[in-house]
Amino acid sequence: MHEGKCIGLHEKIDFDFSRKKTREVRVGSLIIGGNAPIVVQSMNNTDTRNVAASIRQIEELAEAGCELTRLAVPDLQAAEAFANIRKKSPLPIVADIHFDYRLALAAIEAGADKIRINPGNIGGEDRLSQVVKAAKERGVPIRVGVNSGSLDRKIIDKHGGVNAASMSESVLQATRQIEKYDFEDIVISIKASDPALTIAAYRLLADKTDYPLHLGVTEAGTMREGVIRSAVGIGTLLAEGIGDTLRVSLTADPVEEIRAAYAILKSLGLRARGALLVSCPTCGRTAVDLVKIAQEVEEALASVTEPIKVAVMGCAVNGPGEAREADVGIAGGKGEFIIFRRGEIIRKVPEQEAVTALMAVVDEVCRERELNK
Ligand code: SF4
Repeated sequence: MHEGKCIGLHEKIDFDFSRKKTREVRVGSLIIGGNAPIVVQSMNNTDTRNVAASIRQIEELAEAGCELTRLAVPDLQAAEAFANIRKKSPLPIVADIHFDYRLALAAIEAGADKIRINPGNIGGEDRLSQVVKAAKERGVPIRVGVNSGSLDRKIIDKHGGVNAASMSESVLQATRQIEKYDFEDIVISIKASDPALTIAAYRLLADKTDYPLHLGVTEAGTMREGVIRSAVGIGTLLAEGIGDTLRVSLTADPVEEIRAAYAILKSLGLRARGALLVSCPTCGRTAVDLVKIAQEVEEALASVTEPIKVAVMGCAVNGPGEAREADVGIAGGKGEFIIFRRGEIIRKVPEQEAVTALMAVVDEVCRERELNK
């Protein structure tokens, strides 16, 4: 364990939790683990055989701040397409392989920056050894991914069911299957769809290994439920210093996974990217349509990459206080808004012009920061 600093929106803040020390694993141009920033990743939901659509989605993900994406390689045709995608991709790519070792070999050959396998279902010892050997020759790391639904029967029986102990033992057993070929470029994941089980399993695992950990709550759900479940599962672990990379799994556009990932990381001050919006819950003092305005501001801020704190407040009771903390803020009055910049009132605008006027100030702040870089 080591003490660390986290990067907040404005300054370095000492945090009172420490990040667990893990080994560094290189994935293309990225480092996962050690002191490297927590890597944000996603998974394409395009058909890998459709090269153009896959590249388009990777570009959208990169634009949103994704640093690593994963593509399913379900057949040899997909493996061939993977090679073309890899050549054009702005991001390093993980090949997701199940059951067929030939696909793992083909993906490594096609330039995969990392492969994700479950050593237990790749087709036996001899085939696994071929995959590990090829990965080693090419310097391709392996994510050993075991989910609560794919545990070894004997281990489940030994621990009396699917629980943190059986999940942790299963994934460590799978890791040993690879280590015996003198291979240590390993990242581990051990996801469950239940956030509480995910937390318990990763806690146990973090005590037993120093390989970097890939966090996630699997099959987390749709935008609303899935973001909450992921924030609880992933956020709890991050706050305990566990985790080196993460994926928020959502039944939604993968770009939303990236937005959610940064929202979790920003909440803990672990990564600074894009705007942090604070808005009040409204009450009997609110005399403007704040819910609508906050939603419009959230949408408008989605394309901002500069770390900036923006406050949207219903009235002047808490408005100026929040606005002092925020880089830019608005506080509602009767059918109008006051715009603040670092606590200083700079303008008063009618309600219907508030979002446009606020965004103009946000752009101004971002431009000034660009010039000062
Ligand atoms: S900021 Fe004003 S409107 Fe918003 S909850 Fe507080 S008192 Fe109510």
